[in-house]
Amino acid sequence: MSTIEHWINGAATAGASSRTAPVFNPATGAPSTRVRLAGPSDVDAAVAAAAHAFESWSETSLSQRIKVMFAFRELLVRHEDELARIISAEHGKVVDDARGEIVRGREVVEYVCGLGDILKGSFSDQVSTGVDVHNFRQPLGVCAGITPFNFPAMVPLWMHPVAIATGNTFILKPSERDPSAANLVARLYQEAGLPDGVFNVVHGDKAAVDAILDHPGIAAVSFVGSTPIATYVHERGTAHGKRVQALGGAKNHGVVMPDADLDFAARHLIAAAYGSAGERCMAISVAVAVGSAADPLVEILERKARAIKVGPGDDPTSEMGPLVTAAAQERVTGAVASGAAQGATVVVDGRGLKVEGHEDGFFVGPSLLDRVTAGMDAYREEIFGPVLAVVRVDTVDEAIALINANPYGNGTAVFTSDGGTARHFQRKVTVGMIGVNVPVPVPMSYYSFGGWKDSLIGDSPVHGPEGIRFYTRAKVVTTRWPHQERGTAAGFSFPTSD
Ligand code: NAD
Repeated sequence: MSTIEHWINGAATAGASSRTAPVFNPATGAPSTRVRLAGPSDVDAAVAAAAHAFESWSETSLSQRIKVMFAFRELLVRHEDELARIISAEHGKVVDDARGEIVRGREVVEYVCGLGDILKGSFSDQVSTGVDVHNFRQPLGVCAGITPFNFPAMVPLWMHPVAIATGNTFILKPSERDPSAANLVARLYQEAGLPDGVFNVVHGDKAAVDAILDHPGIAAVSFVGSTPIATYVHERGTAHGKRVQALGGAKNHGVVMPDADLDFAARHLIAAAYGSAGERCMAISVAVAVGSAADPLVEILERKARAIKVGPGDDPTSEMGPLVTAAAQERVTGAVASGAAQGATVVVDGRGLKVEGHEDGFFVGPSLLDRVTAGMDAYREEIFGPVLAVVRVDTVDEAIALINANPYGNGTAVFTSDGGTARHFQRKVTVGMIGVNVPVPVPMSYYSFGGWKDSLIGDSPVHGPEGIRFYTRAKVVTTRWPHQERGTAAGFSFPTSD
């Protein structure tokens, strides 16, 4: 069985730690390879390489850095199929869906290809007689990214292109469940002309994360994952004086008004709930049916959920693949069982689904629970699987109250044909990313991505302008050239404008 190595200073390396973890093919349920699990000395080696590379990379011209990003973008296009297949083989999602995440991640590279414009500072002429002020932003140093299993290409791409283009060096600690995409990305960066040590990959689990959080040589940490770990990473990282951005879990509601095109809404809810087997932080896991929308909506959802073709990710006819691990499979079937036990109606039951030829794969079929209430575990917990819960309410304000009482606030959507309802909804919900007749409102790369409440710990969303701000710090320079003027004697009173 092959071993996935770390990537430090431009080369694959086994590192010092002897620990490894198996990586599974979720469609077969069998281990396909194993991955190194770093210890503190491996993190040390990566930080040393990244710190050394920072000395010259931070002095490399903006044009040169952007040139690398353009080349990297082209390589991501050329290797899209290879990368998508690697993701599908370890994550389980269907290959076309994996392509989708690569495209959305690549858009961040495209955004930073325009960094020359984005990073322009400002200049104020003659703020005082003979005095000008300008500002500019500089990189922080060595930055690290700790990422979840569900988007092994896209989520890291939210981070490293922004960090690297702005002059930082980077250490990625990807999920140990689907680690291979990170190594291909490292090779593509190298082929694009990125100097060794600027982008490094350290594989591992909690031990590697803790070593990153405690390391004095790391200036900033970006994290995406579940809320308990996001909270932990934020607390431990900031306690060590680092900048930390930490995105957490989600429970996203799709509200369907009686005036919505119900067939359109159902089609989009189905895709948003069951795409990637529900393992998306922007998946819709709760359909909030308002008033008379409920009965016809559930009827269409049931029909469409039953029609979904579940199979291995590399079968082009599959619409939904397996879950990532046996533990995830168990958690999801448990959530359906608990919904049933607590009084929900199981309209479609995905438990026990067997895919022919893949009987040991981590499959769970699409599941639809109706008459779910806010007190049930199936509503309160982030199931992170192909389970759509329908909650019935009477008014849009009841729907808004439900959403606002939920501790998560990542994404939400409203399906309506009424502009007034949509406007009221977007103004009142305590959620960071909102779709109007758009079920998965992931912002374009030139906006920033981040939720509210327990979906974002701290105050820094990723990519877009907020990403640039996170990976840089500003200097403000006040300038005078005294030899060009007269009467500039130094005084002891506090300087004022004149
Ligand atoms: P996770 O929190 O289990 O793992 C995320 C990262 O943290 C991984 O790299 C993992 O190795 C590390 N980690 C896990 N346990 C740790 C521990 N005890 N101490 C230190 N580090 C630890 O998340 P996951 O299961 O990989 O991903 C799914 C979660 O990520 C879901 O909750 C999902 O909503 C969330 N997510 C959120 C967003 C967002 O934008 N808000 C995006 C994608 C995923």
